Amino acid sequence: MATVTADDVRAVLKRIAAPDGRGNVVSAGLVSDIAIQGGTVMFALTAAPQHMRAMEMLRGAVEKAVLGIPGVDKAMVALTAERPAAGPAQAQPGDNPRGGAVPGIRHLIAVASGKGGVGKSTTAVNLALGLQSLGLRVAVLDADVYGPSVPKLMGLSGKPEASDAAGKKMKPMRRHGVDVMSIGFLVPEDTPMIWRGPMVMSALTQLLRETEWSPADVMVIDMPPGTGDVQLTLAQQTPLSGAVIVSTPQDLALIDARKGLAMFRKVNVPVIGIIENMSYFMCDACGARHEIFGHGGARAEAERIGVPFLGEVPLDKDLRMRSDAGEPVVASMPDSQHSAIYRDVARQVWAALAGGGLARPAPRIVVDNA
Ligand code: ADP
Repeated sequence: MATVTADDVRAVLKRIAAPDGRGNVVSAGLVSDIAIQGGTVMFALTAAPQHMRAMEMLRGAVEKAVLGIPGVDKAMVALTAERPAAGPAQAQPGDNPRGGAVPGIRHLIAVASGKGGVGKSTTAVNLALGLQSLGLRVAVLDADVYGPSVPKLMGLSGKPEASDAAGKKMKPMRRHGVDVMSIGFLVPEDTPMIWRGPMVMSALTQLLRETEWSPADVMVIDMPPGTGDVQLTLAQQTPLSGAVIVSTPQDLALIDARKGLAMFRKVNVPVIGIIENMSYFMCDACGARHEIFGHGGARAEAERIGVPFLGEVPLDKDLRMRSDAGEPVVASMPDSQHSAIYRDVARQVWAALAGGGLARPAPRIVVDNA
């Protein structure tokens, strides 16, 4: 395969006009140093804060042009704001350059699963509340456009209000002290939704970027189940600090979980760890622990592939009933065994985020959040 050089990339970028019409993006000085690793090309485009929207469109064109260079299989173009005179607020190591930061949100993490019905949304919500119980400010974005269940799990209904007169931004819904946004608030319940990939991405970009989020340490994103193109694009275009994968102990789910790992690795999002859900059944009648699906598969698999194992959540009637009633266990039964498990998982997730110990193989681009 051809080896791509920074000069090849610059040559292509010189054919793209600068947004003010004066020369091209290279001659206008908008292109940062170009980092190349294998077939991945990364650089930043500088934009004046008032031109961010135009630049967002330009970024798409630039990425496309770079992807057209033989030997390039991935283009990551970050938008950086022009340095204000007072000096920029620089992103911390561990922050992700992709898609530009979301103002006020320190870390975005994805909760993903290889297939539906494994308890991904239940985990996302309780993990968010677990992080909150550590004293962190949290938000939840329901990106599962195919079956948005976060509103129900969080006991929320109704429609978000516009936060400005122009109706450009929405106020998130809020419950249990957590900001929540979901496509489920915006479309009538039981309306079948048929989504094509690009529609999913633009709907989610809007939910993410056009919501007036309160400042948060962590935003938990409930991903659509599976590992197809939609999920891949989402993982690639959202500025994720890391991902958590939920799996049930069944072998099949584990095979799917492996696909999830491969997906995040492909787009250089660090996998924080695997959570085994419906791991075992605690019988209310006899008090015994029944390992219905065979147990320990996820832990063994995590060890085998070198990914942290974050914990195992039992199959439990209370957990299901509380979830379905919009009263997640971590909020409504904080002293329960399940809540302790989720808090323990949350501690590990926060340690990974805050410690900056997440391995990201690609070089970083510093993004100014001016
Ligand atoms: P997904 O997001 O993977 O489709 P959900 O979180 O919506 O899955 O969970 C599917 C169903 O399983 C829900 O009814 C939920 O209450 C239930 N559930 C999830 N985890 C557990 C658990 N550990 N114990 C009992 N029920 C669970």
